[in-house]
Amino acid sequence: MTKRISPQTSTLYFANAKATRFDYKASLAAKLDRIIERLEFAKHFEKGELVAVKMHLGNPGSHRTIPPVLVKRVVDAIKKIGAKPFVADSVRLPGYLYLETANENGYNEQTLGCPVIMADGIFGNDSVEVKAGRHLKTALIPSAFYDVKSMVVLTHATGHAAYGFGGAMKNIAMGLIGHHCRGSSWEDGGRGLMHMVGGRKFDVQLENCELCGQCVEICPLGAINVADERIEIDWNKCWRCLRCTRVCQFGALLSPKVSDDFYEAQAEGAKAAMSTFESGKVLHISFLLNLQPECDCMPMSGIPVVSDIGLLGGQDMIAIDWATLDMVGDSQPNSGSQAEGMKNSREKTVFCQINNRNSRRTLEFAEKMGLGSTKYEIVDISDPEKNN
Ligand code: SF4
Ligand code: SF4
Repeated sequence: MTKRISPQTSTLYFANAKATRFDYKASLAAKLDRIIERLEFAKHFEKGELVAVKMHLGNPGSHRTIPPVLVKRVVDAIKKIGAKPFVADSVRLPGYLYLETANENGYNEQTLGCPVIMADGIFGNDSVEVKAGRHLKTALIPSAFYDVKSMVVLTHATGHAAYGFGGAMKNIAMGLIGHHCRGSSWEDGGRGLMHMVGGRKFDVQLENCELCGQCVEICPLGAINVADERIEIDWNKCWRCLRCTRVCQFGALLSPKVSDDFYEAQAEGAKAAMSTFESGKVLHISFLLNLQPECDCMPMSGIPVVSDIGLLGGQDMIAIDWATLDMVGDSQPNSGSQAEGMKNSREKTVFCQINNRNSRRTLEFAEKMGLGSTKYEIVDISDPEKNN
């Protein structure tokens, strides 16, 4: 039985990735089922209601995403209680290309058993403006997320160039904010506003450019061209997604410096997105598997920085992310990965070292905004014979 806890401590259900015997009950699929059981979908979702399953659908070249076979178990569990799931993300690659990529990665109606959609429409034009905090003022929430009251958030725990760590909160803060909206720009509450926080253009140092073409290739909008042997950015087209700055290896395109304002703005984005859902109707499952150094939107997948850890489920995204960082910090860095030779710790995880960021800062701001708690209690359901 779960012991009595103080109200500020969040309960998280954990299943480790170890399969210690030849038994289906030791599989990750069976463990996910046990986490779903503990989350009690029937208590949170109603028969007949639409439930969004929010996840990242990958990028061409990024193969270490959440296994479709596990996503299907979540979809099936929602259907089992008579609710209607759909898998969704917001446009990041152009919508049509993103759906084709999702299909190639194994996320489609045939494999998952429910529709897979772009929440802000195939052109990324369909969002609803909601109030946000002092940095953002407004945030654009993709209409399919805005219009549902319930959601299961599936998060692949990875490193992240901007946050240091891509967890449940980043999945909401960035993933539930559209890039732009019909008749408005990224400056009117788009995701780019969070990336830029107070600035308009990222730093370009053309003298460092080696004309490698990586930025041209990765830009989802074709906003970078090469003319007269130098790159040109069409700032009117640009969403400020910063994908180009992440792939530039020569210091020609530079992401804005990260400050507390940046971390606070992410928490504001998450709060704005969460304000559109009914209380108690958002559940989280994080997949601490294939913990690669960069997020699923990059054009490749690096060797995981630590070995698979397992699954975490709960209602509190702050607690889940805090626990994920603790578990990553407790793990041995993998040889051959970017973390090889690093000293890993809870205070300075390999994710934070690789990306030179303080990932816990955003979570602290989010906790202050009432989005969750950094205090958690783990209920380990790895062993089916133990009744925790
Ligand atoms: S990625 Fe960097 S070095 Fe390569 S073309 Fe773009 S700006 Fe130049
Ligand atoms: S930030 Fe870079 S990759 Fe993103 S839209 Fe602008 S130019 Fe393209």
